[in-house]
Amino acid sequence: MIPHRETFWSLGDERYFVYVFMALMSIVIAFGLYQSLRLWRLGQPEDRFDHLLQRFGTLLKYGLAQRRVVQDPLGGAIHMLIFWGFLILMFGTANDSTEYWVHKLSGFAYLQGPLYLGFSLLVDIGGFMLIAGVLLALYRRSVVRPPKLRNLPDDAYSLGMLFLLGVTGFLVEGPRIAIDELRQHPDWAIWSPGGYGVALLMQGLDEGMLRGVYLWSWFGHVALAFFFLAYVLYSKMSHLLWAPLNIFFRSFEPKGALRPIADFENAESFGVAQIQQFTWKQLLDVEACTNCGRCQEQCPAWNSGKALSPRNVIQQLREYLHTYGPGIERGDGQQKLPDMVHEVITDDVLWACTTCRACMEVCPVYIEHIPAIVEMRRSLVMMESAVPESAMQALRSIETRGHPWRGTQYGRTDWMRGLKIPTVAENPGAEYLFWVGCTSALVDRGQPIARSLARILQTAGVSFAVLGEEETCTGDPARRIGNEYLFQMQAQRVVETFNQYGVKKVVTNCPHCFSTIKNEYPQLGGSYDVIHHSELINDLIRQGRVKLAGAVNKTITYHDSCYLGRHNEIYDEPRAIVKALPMARAVEMERSREKGFCCGAGGGRMFMDEDPDKRVNLVRVDEAIRTGAEIVATACPFCIQMFDDGIKNRGVEEKMRALDLAELVAESMIQPATGGAGRSSP
Ligand code: SF4
Ligand code: SF4
Repeated sequence: MIPHRETFWSLGDERYFVYVFMALMSIVIAFGLYQSLRLWRLGQPEDRFDHLLQRFGTLLKYGLAQRRVVQDPLGGAIHMLIFWGFLILMFGTANDSTEYWVHKLSGFAYLQGPLYLGFSLLVDIGGFMLIAGVLLALYRRSVVRPPKLRNLPDDAYSLGMLFLLGVTGFLVEGPRIAIDELRQHPDWAIWSPGGYGVALLMQGLDEGMLRGVYLWSWFGHVALAFFFLAYVLYSKMSHLLWAPLNIFFRSFEPKGALRPIADFENAESFGVAQIQQFTWKQLLDVEACTNCGRCQEQCPAWNSGKALSPRNVIQQLREYLHTYGPGIERGDGQQKLPDMVHEVITDDVLWACTTCRACMEVCPVYIEHIPAIVEMRRSLVMMESAVPESAMQALRSIETRGHPWRGTQYGRTDWMRGLKIPTVAENPGAEYLFWVGCTSALVDRGQPIARSLARILQTAGVSFAVLGEEETCTGDPARRIGNEYLFQMQAQRVVETFNQYGVKKVVTNCPHCFSTIKNEYPQLGGSYDVIHHSELINDLIRQGRVKLAGAVNKTITYHDSCYLGRHNEIYDEPRAIVKALPMARAVEMERSREKGFCCGAGGGRMFMDEDPDKRVNLVRVDEAIRTGAEIVATACPFCIQMFDDGIKNRGVEEKMRALDLAELVAESMIQPATGGAGRSSP
């Protein structure tokens, strides 16, 4: 006899309850969808319907294959077990129903023979996966207890229902197998190992009792399944729907780029102070959050004891949207609204962000924290002038003197005295414009980096020139602090200067300037071939145009600048330079590359006062000290200052130094003038 089974087995008209449950569930789901759509319609327009092919690709990679979820080994394994177990069971149920109706209407039963046996095995594997995933999740939440996880009643309800779904599924199978297959076709029964096990336990019961157990476990299983599906949209399980949707609508803009304010002349307000000023996509972001806490776990602000947790920001916005969104949508003028910015998302939370992108890089559902935080900063800065005094001074300095370093006595060209570096006005045909940046030109600790890079370029015979007195701030700190108007003024000025000199290629040692010119200037019509000094130096070493001979007999740990690494995915070139240094020994810190920990200076925080007890740079310096390295190599003039400060604070100046890659290479390279090796060891 060909292996098969009858759908609904011994059920009579009770089977039609499925359709009653389904109708009820559909009504509840339709209502939930309608509510969510109404809330998102509060948001401002935003075009996320471009790059359709890439969107589907991302959905497969990060929605189905869950490439980011599995980066957390235990959490990822649990999620995969539950997700795929649940999907297999859904597929099994849908297939059963389809087979039932195809058979009923056409007399053709396709689920027979090996296909039926394989299908039975697959569905039981799905059930085991679901149960195992839930048990592991309970273990993780009650025994392992990672600090990033919050145990809420919703988690208990969801896990409880999923567990019961798995168990009752096997309970439904057991009596049928005990009566039919165990007696007549035991070779079929083993293809449903879960149901087979239950059947073995029940085989002593009489047939009437077995049929009773089947009927009630079937009712329980079906009612629970439809209740769970209806519950999904009203619980944290809604991420089953919203997470894939959010992944589909992810941003395809360059990682480091913030959205410009398009029309300053006609805009009535700037930034976001009210929930409906976010775009529909930003409202979808807050719905899609799974509360997994991965962003908080990586956040340097949170890890240094500050008030900011990116998870809390998203969750608080979600609660605000759900609580007050319906009233706003109805135009309810009586509704008392707390200030979203100030009362719910407080000022200290917003100013703590270094825009390091650790949260966005790790978020499994592609939530975009930085744009939301900067939009709220824009409202503080441009609508209320509610800016910390230290940040305000930096903004004023950019406005009046073209750089954020209040108090510097240096001029733009002091750093290059005696180096015979031409300006673009003097050498308009130079291949590269060397963009020095405010920090390398105007700050004591930055100037040796600029000088080292200039020496490397000269040694390698690279044709380059600088803007000299015509260089000004790119506007990066102004944009991250939230003064978009000032950013655009500065950026337009730079683009005009570049275009006036016909600049095509730009090299800079500052990752912040690099990211802004490369990723954000195209928004203002300035597109250039921008290269970071770590990329260019690495190329020059590989081409043999820079030869290293001076021994750097030290242990070196390389610190990833957030704006070079996460924002621009440059991880390998700096490490290749460290590797090329003769006799240098490279060690990695606990957190590196995509998971590298911020130095604390991004997002304008370089220019803001820091609570001495909550300093991000100290957390990072401690990590560097733990490696035993004698040199922390960086590729950013901000990072260098943060490390110098941290090394001093920890009293390890005798054991550890912070040096830019350009300084290390300049010290080690062979100088063409003498033809000899630069033997001094850093
Ligand atoms: S960008 Fe960095 S500092 Fe800001 S919330 Fe995200 S992880 Fe925290
Ligand atoms: S924002 Fe992303 S990473 Fe953070 S808790 Fe929500 S889903 Fe997790």
